Amino acid sequence: MNDTAALKATAQRAIDAAAPALFDISNRMHAEVELAFEEVKAQAWQCAALARAGLAVEEGLGSLRTAFRATRRGGAGPRIAFLCEYDGLPVYGQSCGHNVVAAAGVGAAIGLARVIDRIGGEAVALGTPGEEGGGGKNILHREGFFAGIDAMMLVYPGMDNIAHSRTVGATRVQVAYHGKAAHAAARPELGINALDALLAAFNGINALRQQLPSDVRVHGIITKGGTLPQVIPDHTTAVITVRANDAATLARVIPRVDACLVGAAEMTGARLERTWPEKPGRELLSNAALAQSFERNLQALGRPTRPRDQLSGAWSGDTGNVSWFVPTIQPQMAMTGRDVPPHSHEFHAASIGPDAERCILDSAKAMAMTAIDLIVDPTLLDKVTAEFAAAGGVRDAL
Ligand SMILES: [Zn+2]
Repeated sequence: MNDTAALKATAQRAIDAAAPALFDISNRMHAEVELAFEEVKAQAWQCAALARAGLAVEEGLGSLRTAFRATRRGGAGPRIAFLCEYDGLPVYGQSCGHNVVAAAGVGAAIGLARVIDRIGGEAVALGTPGEEGGGGKNILHREGFFAGIDAMMLVYPGMDNIAHSRTVGATRVQVAYHGKAAHAAARPELGINALDALLAAFNGINALRQQLPSDVRVHGIITKGGTLPQVIPDHTTAVITVRANDAATLARVIPRVDACLVGAAEMTGARLERTWPEKPGRELLSNAALAQSFERNLQALGRPTRPRDQLSGAWSGDTGNVSWFVPTIQPQMAMTGRDVPPHSHEFHAASIGPDAERCILDSAKAMAMTAIDLIVDPTLLDKVTAEFAAAGGVRDAL
């Protein structure tokens, strides 16, 4: 066994030894789901396990009280971060598998920390709360907590083992229509119907859909449809998400969706109020060189891998934006069958049990092994960094 193989074996043994603690974190998060920025228990469970493994833990980072950072430095060398996510969804629980993401990230940090004194560099577990719509990583980035990280990774449980995975760009518009209330039977002609405006907007978007590129997704919900059926609705609200593979496509689609919103106001006489975020969330800049190392390590663990396809990664996340500031991979690890969609009750049910536990251990090991590759082989880190810059990534920019 050469030195690198021995180091990887040591990291794997540390992760196996931590398995009961990792499964405990995942199981508790599954049983007690906490929503974005309220993840106090998940934070405490992860920090306790990291502290027990000898990492220095900070609970609460900047303005995010449920963020955390755990570090162990072995000497000069690159700083490699494993990202943990731990918020659940209202109603749908851990249907995004963040309990598995968190336990895998903690495990990877424990594995790398075990060998860090021998190889130098720094192992970092970065706890990034509020992923589901909260954009916690964007806040942490603005506050400087991604500065100085040389490469980072997190693994998402899903359908397939895909190292060079993707996520798509996304933005979300908040919509309100203001109409005029009137008795819906006695004097409807004096009203302006804000619900009709909203329905016309949704129908316009449905008609637009056929003319959109196949990677574009537009989907929304009505969050307020009116107050009473006997009153012409004078105030309605909705949230609509627009996604596309890349920023350029998204930039072309956004005005067309906006035109549907404006047109519906014109048709009905209702006044439109809408708020588009200043900048859409970006697609993941997955680093191919880093992904290749991860893939080799995953295959060494006995997991067959496959290339990304149309089904894989057609979702978004707040890692997308930060992947343009730090070389990143966000591989997927097979946990469910192909017929189990994320954000479903079935996915929540699949996020616990033997398949989820295998996913946690293999994810943690493959990440720790990839981090070891990065530290012991400076040419790999050079390759990762050069690819990142060539693709338009900018290290440490705010
Ligand atoms: Zn999700």
